[in-house]
Amino acid sequence: MITLEEAIDKLRSLVKPLQAEEIPVLKSHGRILREDVHSPISIPPFDKSAMDGYAVKAVDTSGASDKEPVVLEVLEDIPAGKVGRFLLRKGTATRIMTGAPLPGGADTIVMVEDTEAAPDGVLIKKTLEKGTHVVPAGEDIKKGERVLTAGTFIGAAEMGMIASTGRSKVKVSIKPKVRVISTGSEILKPGQDLQPGHIYDSNGYAMTGLATRRGADARFLGIARDRKGDLERKIARADDAHLLVLSGGISVGDYDLVQDVLAGMGTKQIFYRVRIKPGMPTYAGIQGKRFVLGLPGNPASCMVTFMLFAGLLIDSMLGKKEIWLRRGQARLSVPIRLKPERRKFLRGILQETDGRLMVEPCHAQQSGVMNSMVTANVLIDSPEGVTELKAGSLVDIIYL
Ligand code: AMP
Ligand code: MG
Repeated sequence: MITLEEAIDKLRSLVKPLQAEEIPVLKSHGRILREDVHSPISIPPFDKSAMDGYAVKAVDTSGASDKEPVVLEVLEDIPAGKVGRFLLRKGTATRIMTGAPLPGGADTIVMVEDTEAAPDGVLIKKTLEKGTHVVPAGEDIKKGERVLTAGTFIGAAEMGMIASTGRSKVKVSIKPKVRVISTGSEILKPGQDLQPGHIYDSNGYAMTGLATRRGADARFLGIARDRKGDLERKIARADDAHLLVLSGGISVGDYDLVQDVLAGMGTKQIFYRVRIKPGMPTYAGIQGKRFVLGLPGNPASCMVTFMLFAGLLIDSMLGKKEIWLRRGQARLSVPIRLKPERRKFLRGILQETDGRLMVEPCHAQQSGVMNSMVTANVLIDSPEGVTELKAGSLVDIIYL
């Protein structure tokens, strides 16, 4: 049996980012950037007004106040989107709107609130320093600057940033095709009548959700009975997969046929059995270019191992910069006793109490319990060999 680190290293050494594709920026939310984005322009591209008011030379406002305003001749009006025609001379001003480019010769904006219209021009009622209310060209981004790096998750702000450089298209990773199969002759498709000795499928749905959430093109291929022929037929449907994930049938029971069937179909084992709890009977293999994971059928084991192994593979295929698990630390609110063997991933509830991050393990930690997978918001990552964790001690956590 290998450790989690060894299993991870094996997968990492084999998995590579998939190809990239160019798509409209508007469609890029949730995708992973596969190029560095540089701005070919300064943003803003010109000195612009941050206020509605008047563009002036600061020296012309010298000494101006409410009581002793200065009169300036008004040359023209510059709304946003227009460029002024006149160069400002001493003693003149230009009416200007927010976002409009400063006319030549101007260096300062007087807010409209600090002015008053007069028959022969505008009254300026405030002395201003040079540069007041001016947004200088390149304040946000300098021409040529790198604004985003390859591997970044594209969220709303990133979409806006890419667009602001003038780009309408962007290079992102293609979505890994993840195909999911539930196995087990007792597993029923939700929506059917419950039969004696049967349970409804949970894993197929949870795994499809996890894969979708991670940015994969996830498809559930259905439930295979514990029969060679049925398994082969369902697995054959995953021909286009970058990653095929099966749940159940991977242990040592008489009807656990997944490994044999995979081997018969040309899948080479990367590893089988990992020193973790839950999730020991995890299988990883490779068939041609596609990865295959056989995960334990117990719902909590299935989800935890999916996050650990499928998560790593999907993130690596996507070329994500920060891959895989969001880790942190928190203080235990209660003591925990543990068996020393295997590294544990306990479902836990993280809460902020008096400004401190406290974590409490969920009551039910059995592999088959789905409920605590719903209430949990973290996994407590407890090393092999540890038998006791004291209340108040700092533990490693993985955010779900
Ligand atoms: P297995 O790994 O096939 O030995 O299954 C272990 C346990 O998980 C058994 O109690 C199964 O009934 C249950 N199980 C297997 N697959 C699923 C599934 N897709 N949804 C819910 N429970 C499952
Ligand atoms: Mg089974």
